[in-house]
Formats: sequence, structure tokens, C-alpha cells
Amino acid sequence: MNNTQSTELIFEMSRHGRRCHRLPACDVPSKPASELLPKKYLADRPPPLPEVGEIDLIRHYMNLSARNMSIDTNFYPLGSCTMKYNPKRHERIAGFPGFANLHPLQDDDTTQGMLELLYGMQEYLKEISGLPAISLQPAAGAQGELTALFVAHAYFKDKGQHHRTKVLVPDSAHGTNPASAALAGFETVTVKSGADGLVNLDDLTAKLGDDTAVFMITNPNTLGLFETQIKTITELVHAKGGLIYLDGANMNAILGITRPGDFGADMQHYNVHKTFTGPHGGGGPGSGPITVRDFLAPYLPAPIVRKDGERFYLDYQMPKSIGRVRSFFGTIGILFRGYCYIRTLGPDGLKDVSEQAVLNANYLRARVSEGFEVPHPGPCMHEFVATARALVREKKIRAMDVAKRLLDYGYHAPTVYFPLVVPEALMMEPTETESKETLDAFADTLLKIKGEDPETVRTAPHTHVISRADEVKAAKEPVLRWTAKHAQTGPAGAVTAGPEVVTREW
Ligand SMILES: *Cc1c(COP(=O)(O)O)cnc(C)c1O
Repeated sequence: MNNTQSTELIFEMSRHGRRCHRLPACDVPSKPASELLPKKYLADRPPPLPEVGEIDLIRHYMNLSARNMSIDTNFYPLGSCTMKYNPKRHERIAGFPGFANLHPLQDDDTTQGMLELLYGMQEYLKEISGLPAISLQPAAGAQGELTALFVAHAYFKDKGQHHRTKVLVPDSAHGTNPASAALAGFETVTVKSGADGLVNLDDLTAKLGDDTAVFMITNPNTLGLFETQIKTITELVHAKGGLIYLDGANMNAILGITRPGDFGADMQHYNVHKTFTGPHGGGGPGSGPITVRDFLAPYLPAPIVRKDGERFYLDYQMPKSIGRVRSFFGTIGILFRGYCYIRTLGPDGLKDVSEQAVLNANYLRARVSEGFEVPHPGPCMHEFVATARALVREKKIRAMDVAKRLLDYGYHAPTVYFPLVVPEALMMEPTETESKETLDAFADTLLKIKGEDPETVRTAPHTHVISRADEVKAAKEPVLRWTAKHAQTGPAGAVTAGPEVVTREW
């Protein structure tokens, strides 16, 4: 990686009068802005923009982009995020002018091609989950959760069951599960996992009651383990009149092998950007369709794509619908990519994806176990969770230090400190698209880091422009503007840092 390269920042490159382009002299009558607009709307000086030539501008952005980690440049075993290769053919197809140039307010008669693809995607996702109704609208897994909980709420309200106020969530769940439950107005109750990492049935039974609305379960769970008692779990919840919500973020492990609808789920979300290859580093764009049982279908967000003979149309006639959860029809660009993926692979290909994903995870698990404890017994599904707790004891090296040191070797870090039930967690999901050589090289690097001088590991990364940011501050109070310390100020005051500009020296 060439992240060490010191890049002159663009404000410092600025020289008064330098330009990427020059316009020909104006050959039509013109007036100065001061004659066209009232004075109060006019700035008293030009905006503080850098003045650079085109080559410097290009180098600036190219160098910045090389500081990024992506699946196209680095192995990216970020557990639970399914960072698999994104086939480039999907990009080309999603960019076809017939799709990319559509306007969302066009009439159905002029968008039949798009509607046909969306209809096809609805059919495939229903089939893969074993649930007969769908909404493509949610823009992410988390929004799928929230949407499904709204649907459950509307259903119980319709049935007069106002007393169902609680959503049960295992302690190994993704943080979005309790957050969605709270946002939907439910009270969250945590269900404990046993030492085996699976839902503890005694604790579940104790917490189930007439007030249970939904049990949200992730299967395979975030420890990469299949909930072997899933049938019993769904029966217990149904016996109390509750619904089962399946967090489908881990569908990459079970495509074509088992279906949530078959093991008792009433609703589930997909993360199309994870399982079906939407590029999603850096948080988006996502697509989180939900599939549900027939009796929940009337409450789904409208519109839904339907077919009448040969014609496709958007159906808004859903009087019990919870309404929209997103503008227009969902993240269509990601749905198109997912559609291409499903059509390319077919049922056997999808099953192969899951088998290879599970095989890769088990291979990596075995290699990582040579130097790190993996607390839950294998075999695992598509991912596994190791712990750095022995390293903390022996060398005062934490999971975060290992993660940061991996960056020096050109690897994106695994997910750390999640799930919460494993201390010093390092959660790894290699996905099916990686070769044995990549997995071996990564495992060898982890083992090497374990043997390194602790100070080197604790102060990593050493090869990146930014070493360790305050992650909470970086997320909650990002400083997105930068101004130069030594910028050249042109006579017109072209480059100046006004008092309102947050200044940060990198
Ligand atoms: C990624 C993930 C989510 C949330 O999905 P987003 O698309 O990121 O909103 C929920 N649950 C699990 C287990 C996940 O891995």
C-alpha cells in the first residue's frame, strides 16, 4: 500500500490564478452580477476555493482514494458484513441507460423493463426465504427490521392484541435489533445465550408471555453458529401467540440449503448488499427487503410490484398498509445487482456459494485456532469469533491492537468487540470469494502479529496517514472541512480561512 506517501493537500497546492480550464471570452452581451442581483445577496469576496491545475487536482483525488481500503484492493474479513467480491458485470448492467436514466415518477407503461426485474427479484427473494409476501422498500437491514416491527405492530393492533408490547432479543444479537424494537415503540427484553453460544431455552421460556410480540433471532447467529433448536424455539414463541423475526444478515451461510420460512420464521429481512453483492463499504447504499407470511402481507409498505397478464404495475391499493418507509421503490440499483447475481448463479450456484462460504470460514477458523482461542465449538457456519483475551493477559495486546496492526499488512480488520458475549472478540467472515492462498496469508499474518513486539502492535498502524482516530468522535462529530495553515492568499482573498471554518491540521 502506498498510504505512507505524504500527499500535499489541495489548499497548499493552491496558487492564485491557476485553473483546470479557461472559458473563451464571452461573446454575448453580459452584465455584472451587481446589476442583476440585489446587493444583499452578493458575497463581498470569492469563495475560499483552492486554485489548481488539472493534473494536481487529479493527483490529489487519486492519492486520497489510495488511502481507502476496499474489497477491490484488500482482503476484508469484516465479520457479519459479508464483504464478498462485487462482480463488475453487475455495475455495467445497473448502469444501462434504460435503468440508470429512469425517473421514479415515470408512468408504469414506460417502465415495464424495470418493473419486470423488480417483480422477478420479489419472486426470487420469496422463494429463497420460503415466505410468500415481500416488500423491496427498506433501504438497509436495520430499516427492514424496523419495517417488519411496524408490520407486526399493525397486525397485533388489527387483532386487538394491544397487550403485546415486548420484543425479545438474544444477547448475541446485532445492536440494530434492540434499536429497531425501541424505535418501533416496543420494550426490549434480552434473552441469554448458553455456554454453547446458542439461545438458552430456559431463559427464553421464562421470558415468553402473553405480552410477547416478537422474538428476533439471527440464524445462523452472530457467533457463526446454527441455532440447532430453531424448530423448538419457533414453536415455543408461536404457542404464546408471538411472531418470529429472522435477522437474515447471515443468509450467505444457508442459501438453497434451508429456508427461514421452513424453520418457522414469520418475517425476515435480507441484506441484498451483503448476500447478493451490492458494493457496500463505507455504509451504503443498502437494500433490506423483507419477506413475511401471508397473514402479514396486507400491512406491508405500499406499493408492491404486481403482474396482470403480461403487464407489470405498482399496486398502491393496500388499505391496511403501514405506508411508505422510503421514497419511491427501494434502492433499485442494488436490487438490480442482486437480481443479476441470482440469475447468473441459479439455484445450484447459490447453494454452492453458501457451501464455499462455510468451507472457507471453517478453513480459516482452523488456521486461526493455531494461535488464537475460538471459544465456541466448531464447525462454524459462514463466520466465527476468536478472542484476543489470552494476548491481553500475556502481552497487554488487545483485539483493537491486533485489528490496527493488520492494516499495516494490507488487510482490513475483522469486526472487533462484537458480538458482546465474547470478550476481546475478533469476528471473521472470509466469504466464498477468497482463495486458499489469501486465507493462508491472512492467518500467517495474524500468527506473526501475535509474536511481535507488543509496543509495535499497540501503536499500530504505522503505515497510514491517520493512526488512531477517536472513533466515537469521528462518527458523531466528523470534521469534514479542512483549511490550510500556509495557504497562499491571492489578492482577491481566494484562499482564506473564515472564522466559521473548522480548522484541522492533518
Ligand atoms: C449488517 C447486519 C444488520 C444491519 O444491516 P444493515 O444493512 O447494516 O442495516 C443486522 N443484523 C446483522 C446480524 C448484521 O450483520
